[in-house]
Amino acid sequence: MGEKKKKIVKTIKIDLDKCNGCRACEVICSAFHASPKYSSNNPARSRIRMIRDPIRDVYVPVYAGEYAKAECMGRDKYVIDGKEYDECGFCRASCPSRDAFKEPDSGLPLKCDMCEDDPAQEKPLCVQWCLNDALTYEEREEEVEEEVKPEDVEIGLESMVDKYGLQKVIDTVARMSKKE
Ligand code: SF4
Ligand code: SF4
Repeated sequence: MGEKKKKIVKTIKIDLDKCNGCRACEVICSAFHASPKYSSNNPARSRIRMIRDPIRDVYVPVYAGEYAKAECMGRDKYVIDGKEYDECGFCRASCPSRDAFKEPDSGLPLKCDMCEDDPAQEKPLCVQWCLNDALTYEEREEEVEEEVKPEDVEIGLESMVDKYGLQKVIDTVARMSKKE
């Protein structure tokens, strides 16, 4: 058993009845994470995606979760108000089976960081920009086992290795380091 430590657990509560699919959350998320910051906005780069079916008034914001190396064995299909949604439509994983939650140019996985990116925001920006109060930010303190989390760069490298193979990644890094 590892050491116990206090941890702030951050959650965003989603009230589907209040979401009208305006996509302001996607705009601000992609702008905040653009490089340089706020230089562009592109929903494909957002770490929150709006699954929408306007005819039935169904709008479901889905947050980007963990990077998944391989597709999972089973698939989800949701039926809401009689409409069947795409397989895995509401899944949060950045996984090889689809383009969602991947940086469009590099293919690197995207993951919601609760806006802790530099500069860290007191409240997630998607929550601040949701004028319909569909997103509510909450924090609580919990005792958890100490865990070693992989760095973002490690997750990114792992996905590159999965996609191109270790040798190609090593060769590319070696070539890049010669240019510097
Ligand atoms: S909390 Fe921040 S990083 Fe996560 S989806 Fe909202 S705006 Fe994007
Ligand atoms: S900003 Fe709020 S209302 Fe608009 S799409 Fe996002 S969650 Fe829904």
